[in-house]
Amino acid sequence: MFGRMPKKSDSDRYYEILGVSKNASPEELKKAYKKAAMQNHPDKGGDPEKFKELAQAYEVLSDPEKRDIYDQYGEDALKEGMGGGGASHNPFDIFESFFGSSSVGGPFGGSSHGRGSRRQRRGADVVHQLKVTLEGLYSGTSKKLSLSRNVICSKCKGKGSKTGASSRCSGCQGSGKKVSIRQLGPNMIQQMQHVCPDCRGSGEIISEKDKCGQCKGQKVVHDKKLLEVHVEKGMQNGQKITFQGEADEAPDTITGDIVFVLQVKEHQKFKRKGDDLFVEHTLTLTEALCGFQFPLTHLDGRQLLIKSNPGEIIKPGQFKAIDDEGMPHYQKPFIKGRLYIHFDVDFPESDSLNPEQQKGLESVLPPRPVSQLTDMELDECEETTLHDVNIEEEMRRKQQQAQQEAYDEDEEADGPRVQCAQQ
Ligand SMILES: [Zn+2]
Ligand SMILES: [Zn+2]
Repeated sequence: MFGRMPKKSDSDRYYEILGVSKNASPEELKKAYKKAAMQNHPDKGGDPEKFKELAQAYEVLSDPEKRDIYDQYGEDALKEGMGGGGASHNPFDIFESFFGSSSVGGPFGGSSHGRGSRRQRRGADVVHQLKVTLEGLYSGTSKKLSLSRNVICSKCKGKGSKTGASSRCSGCQGSGKKVSIRQLGPNMIQQMQHVCPDCRGSGEIISEKDKCGQCKGQKVVHDKKLLEVHVEKGMQNGQKITFQGEADEAPDTITGDIVFVLQVKEHQKFKRKGDDLFVEHTLTLTEALCGFQFPLTHLDGRQLLIKSNPGEIIKPGQFKAIDDEGMPHYQKPFIKGRLYIHFDVDFPESDSLNPEQQKGLESVLPPRPVSQLTDMELDECEETTLHDVNIEEEMRRKQQQAQQEAYDEDEEADGPRVQCAQQ
């Protein structure tokens, strides 16, 4: 962000919109805005754009702090910093705060922009993680949860006051917000807007004797709410279940939602990809060659009998699939994915076979490739012996050795140091 030099024309426009001179007094500004706003109010057939511009201009020029910034740095300076911190308020709010029209019969009786229908802010959503099992997503499940939340106090109807009396917060002049200005550089300022700490954004203060006995002037009270969350068949990890308008209530606020985000616990046996399920199964060499059958407990507790086709050989790493035994499709639970089985094959534990066993196997397995070596070639070969190795262990040892050597070299390169003899 670089400082900007104000253009001359930048800080004239608002004065022109209101039709006043640059040294107009607050009273002159007020008078000019009142006249122009009445003439241009959309309810009276005025141009909404012009009405908005008027409100914007008045909002800035009527605030001594903002007017000062505007005069010095122009319009752009007010738009910098926090969003909404500049001249971007609802023009109807400004109009209303100006005229203080709180009841029907103001300058525009029956206006749809009265205080009652004033634009409400939306309360925050409350997000909870909801842990579910894969079984739960397969068959569908429901969970009852007790949540505590704020609700509008029933005694004072959210006014916080016994008598209904409240006074405007002096900290923020009733706006609920405070604007602070920070000088970032010679030609650059930043405008920050925050919630007024005195009234916590409500714009009003209730005196101690007027405070509602039930909510102590807080306008809301804690309440427990029991929610039943229905997890439907086939829902996905991360899917959201929303309870609209069930979050914390606050006066003049549209209540936010309670949102549950599904978090699926990893399953020991089944892995899920979309609507398909995957299962690992290890066969013995004998089963892989001669056939197998085994029971598999599904996610709903059913026992599936998994068996090979007659005469079939299963190879290590091979996949097989069963139709319609995957996950139910979300909102179409009668459609199901596939269940894939990924096979591994374990060789026998024993390290050797006797000659008779070898002969027996050879009689049924495909023949060995015939040795292409002639006797003469054999004579020229050197005899070798194959040893057992623990390959991981040996590789680890060799890596450590290499690291040690690299370290020793670094030490050497560091300078004329006395090198101790190694080994
Ligand atoms: Zn305040
Ligand atoms: Zn109350």
